[in-house]
Amino acid sequence: MILKGLELDFFRNYVHAELSFSPSVNVIWGENAQGKTNLLEAAAYLSSCRSHRARYDRELIQFGVDHAFLKGEVFSHSRDFTLEARIHRGERRQLFSNGVKLKTAGELGEVFNTILFCPEDLSLIRDGAGARRRFLDDAICQLRPRYAAALGEYKRLYEQKTRILRDWEEKPSLLDTLDDFNLRMVQVGAYLIHYRAHFVKRLSVLTPPIQSDFSGGREKLALRYETVSTVTDPEASPKVILEQLLAHQQSHRRAELDSRQCLSGPHKDDLAVEIDGQSARQFASQGQTRTAALSLKLACRELFQEDTGEWPVLLLDDVLSELDNRRQAFVLERIDGGQVLITCCEETGALARDGKRFQVKGGTLVHG
Ligand code: ATP
Ligand code: MG
Repeated sequence: MILKGLELDFFRNYVHAELSFSPSVNVIWGENAQGKTNLLEAAAYLSSCRSHRARYDRELIQFGVDHAFLKGEVFSHSRDFTLEARIHRGERRQLFSNGVKLKTAGELGEVFNTILFCPEDLSLIRDGAGARRRFLDDAICQLRPRYAAALGEYKRLYEQKTRILRDWEEKPSLLDTLDDFNLRMVQVGAYLIHYRAHFVKRLSVLTPPIQSDFSGGREKLALRYETVSTVTDPEASPKVILEQLLAHQQSHRRAELDSRQCLSGPHKDDLAVEIDGQSARQFASQGQTRTAALSLKLACRELFQEDTGEWPVLLLDDVLSELDNRRQAFVLERIDGGQVLITCCEETGALARDGKRFQVKGGTLVHG
């Protein structure tokens, strides 16, 4: 799939911008704090309504303005699509594909997929399990709209149950609804575990060869999905997982009431990353951390291609500058085939493939 054009109004520091991209490599360059990452963020938003650095949509709207508008011209599945997002402060966002209003953000993923790699992605290896769950969830949401809906439901249930557990001593009547919440959470939770485990299974085939190539054949990477202890096989059918989750849920009921926290469920799951048999989180060097995170993202890109038959658009934020020449060359070779948007601080000549360059200054395009 190709992002042919992008139009922004009042998005972050862009009052108005129109870009038309090359189907191969697009280099976006400029000094710090000019709006390079904002452009990648806008492209990513049109694929999933998610941003890697904004928690709420309102953060994307320009300071002092009450709405933002994004439009992407996308070529995918041999057709042209116009995707639009309208974000208003205090209102629900509105999404359109070829003028037809979309019901869910997940529907964008059927038309347009992106894979973003940015400096913050080192947290994918280093941080707690939350960063890795988010990585899995972001990717699966783009591929499976039903997963996105289930994840949204699980989050709502989790928040409601957390409130019950927090307030039940003051308001014992709240406990009347706890069993209903528990049952619905294991139903939805079983589905999440099943899908995540199957995704990890495929990722664990695609990632190790990339890490190995990166390290000149020296490093062996392994992935494993870790979930609730009673689940014997996370790849089993949701029905089987449901029973096992229920058992865990019930045995932790008292502990949840005492600690006033949700202790049982896939909201604590993790994707274990090991390099040469050691936990990458604990033992990987800086370089290994960077390459492992990038390998995961590139593997994800290949998985998307397998799944949809099209290369997702790769968004590389400030990445190449951090890699040595051999690894830079390796990345550029590996991503041959699809469209790429790359940001960097200098007008570098290193990016050989024919493509386009855009210079960004204070939220405007200087040329391009
Ligand atoms: P760097 O090279 O440091 O990564 P960058 O070019 O990627 O810089 P961006 O992160 O794209 O920079 O843009 C940052 C600029 O956008 C900052 O000056 C910031 O204040 C501004 N900005 C962020 N959000 C908004 C917003 N909602 N409204 C207006 N400006 C914003
Ligand atoms: Mg940036």
